[in-house]
Amino acid sequence: MNIILLGPPGAGKGTQAKMLVDQYQIPQISTGDILRAAVKEGTQLGKEAKSYMDKGELVPDSVVIGIVEERIKEPDCAKGYMLDGFPRTVPQAEALDGMLQNLSSMIDHVVSIEVGKEELVKRLTGRRTCRECGAGYHVMFDPPKTEDVCDKCGGELYQRDDDNVETVTSRLEVYEAQTLPLIGYYKTQGKVRPIDGVGDIKDIFGRITQVLS
Ligand code: ADP
Ligand code: ADP
Ligand code: ZN
Repeated sequence: MNIILLGPPGAGKGTQAKMLVDQYQIPQISTGDILRAAVKEGTQLGKEAKSYMDKGELVPDSVVIGIVEERIKEPDCAKGYMLDGFPRTVPQAEALDGMLQNLSSMIDHVVSIEVGKEELVKRLTGRRTCRECGAGYHVMFDPPKTEDVCDKCGGELYQRDDDNVETVTSRLEVYEAQTLPLIGYYKTQGKVRPIDGVGDIKDIFGRITQVLS
């Protein structure tokens, strides 16, 4: 099963993806995570991506398309995968369709997680992430048992550089202008599965697994 998780920054894509990995035993491919790892390692890719990420802008299509093309050819993707944060523009979606056609494969479901803007700002500005294992938390909505310590691995929690009010505002604008058109793109293909993304994390997980089964 090949799935795209679509939704604005803060919709809960990463949170749900981690639960779906356990349920379906297919990998999560997060372009954001791959880019942040490259920034941390200081690779050429990381150096190029950082300036865009800091401003809340999208990294150029050619760069992320190349990353995904490499990744979906890995053996662990043979049984399926979940794309989290990709595609984010119509050219990325078109490139993805092209690569999948070459692999005689296709996307089965586009899970579109819907959350209002006010809630998104609250979620993003309170988000905390584990430095070691990448687990996500929220200072109010999903706090760890011990402040700033990961429940799962004991790692230190940090706040992403781009989770400040200014960058969040531009990321939400970029989403509306460049990513929202993908809903129409995938509606034409009959693949959009809208999900109400407000409420308990486990309830939302139930809504998603229901449409996938
Ligand atoms: P995305 O990957 O779509 O940007 P995340 O999964 O990282 O979003 O979630 C953004 C923030 O919102 C995190 O701090 C997370 O803990 C929190 N969050 C996720 N789902 C919910 C929910 N249903 N209700 C409240 N907060 C949530
Ligand atoms: P979120 O869903 O919480 O906004 P991500 O971790 O998916 O955050 O993305 C963080 C940043 O990484 C984006 O603001 C953008 O600069 C870059 N990025 C991630 N995925 C893509 C993509 N598919 N195309 C272009 N830029 C991307
Ligand atoms: Zn951890």
